[in-house]
Amino acid sequence: MRKILIVGAGQSGLQLALGLQANGYEVTLMTNRTADEIREGRVMSTQCMFTTALQHERDLGLNFWESQAPRIDGLGVSVAGPPGPDAASRPIDWVGHLDGYAQSVDQRVKMAGWMETFAQRGGQLVIHGAAVSDLDYFARRYDLVLVAAGKGELVSMFGRDDSRSPYDKPQRALAVSYVHGLGPRPEHPDFHAVRCNLVPGVGEMFIMPCLTTSGPCDILFWEGIPGGPLDVFEGVKDPREHLRVTLELMKQFLPWEYDRARDVELTDAGGVLAGRYAPTVRNPIGELPSGGLVLGVADVVVANDPITGQGSNNAAKCAASYLESIVSHGDKPFDREWMQAAFDRYWEYAQHVTKWTNAMLAPPPEHVLQLIGAGGRFQAVADRFANAFDNPADFEEWFFEPGLAQAYLASVAAG
Ligand SMILES: Cc1cc2nc3c(=O)[nH]c(=O)nc-3n(C[C@H](O)[C@H](O)[C@H](O)COP(=O)(O)OP(=O)(O)OC[C@H]3O[C@@H](n4cnc5c(N)ncnc54)[C@H](O)[C@@H]3O)c2cc1C
Repeated sequence: MRKILIVGAGQSGLQLALGLQANGYEVTLMTNRTADEIREGRVMSTQCMFTTALQHERDLGLNFWESQAPRIDGLGVSVAGPPGPDAASRPIDWVGHLDGYAQSVDQRVKMAGWMETFAQRGGQLVIHGAAVSDLDYFARRYDLVLVAAGKGELVSMFGRDDSRSPYDKPQRALAVSYVHGLGPRPEHPDFHAVRCNLVPGVGEMFIMPCLTTSGPCDILFWEGIPGGPLDVFEGVKDPREHLRVTLELMKQFLPWEYDRARDVELTDAGGVLAGRYAPTVRNPIGELPSGGLVLGVADVVVANDPITGQGSNNAAKCAASYLESIVSHGDKPFDREWMQAAFDRYWEYAQHVTKWTNAMLAPPPEHVLQLIGAGGRFQAVADRFANAFDNPADFEEWFFEPGLAQAYLASVAAG
């Protein structure tokens, strides 16, 4: 039986561990927190996942919370008017319909549950914060070592790929609040959607339903341009103060959203998060001091800003792609060539996510403004935007190049 060590019990590490376990591999999962510590700790993400990523979980029978989590049937975009009396004017405001629903299950619920399932199914779960020296020791005892430790310190083993990483600093300051008591969206009270509220020159707020430790909730997620008016959360330590500042900024920049958020309360003291990181693509193979090789997974190798809500989707797709690469390799050695090929296969997809996400961090060019505006006039454009969150490769056909955007809009206008 082939022996595989996975470091990190997040979306990618756990999905891959459970998938390999189901395929008869002897899997050890090493991670730095117990299931209870995760469940009782702080939120880590907004983790909205679209239909293709959710299908990877269904394929492995891991969709334990699908019937309880709110179904997200749409994705909407609103652009705020200038701050002041016109802030609520919303020059752009539309919702696109998703072909298959999205869902967000609090990672505290999912990762804790999946860890317990992995152990119940006979997997070896080791609670230990791994250092490079640990990996050096273990690499000789396993056929393959995968590092799925997210954006933690182990990424230093993997060199930055400058050609694929245009930013060397964080492009947004992040501030998340999980709340109960958000009122329904008056425009479509009958179905749930992720709402992207764009505040030009200032940042974005994403609002979405989620399933958390205390049941269904909503997430309020500010992404602020560094140094701007939304970049005020880092010194805030009290969760209630974090929520108060979140609401104050909504009142100022998104008064229509504030109107339905007046009575919200935090889901729990761990329901807030603030931070920032630089989007980075890394070389996929890490070399250990003794010469052994390890393969990076998901955020370790491709970490995008969450502005497009893709990291968990990428993690699920990376885990599914690596599972396929491992199983189809049979008993052959997991050498450098195989590692590079496994990553290249994943990058075929992930490159589109990185290109689009990095584009969304920059001020939008004229043709992108026209496309976003057209979502309000043509339902087909709104729907295509929404569904491209599930398959960002589609943006290549109509989003990046002004000529393609114009041709697409002309074809939609012509019916
Ligand atoms: C504010 C915010 C909002 C987001 N919203 C979305 C969204 O809506 N949709 C979406 O798709 N993505 C979103 N993301 C991104 C998404 O959460 C991540 O990309 C995804 O969780 C990455 O999965 P992963 O498996 O690579 O790593 P992680 O989920 O980070 O898991 C890494 C694991 O490794 C463990 N670990 C770390 N270091 C060590 C060590 N040395 N030894 C042992 N274990 C270790 C950690 O404890 C953790 O269990 C968001 C991210 C943020 C920050």
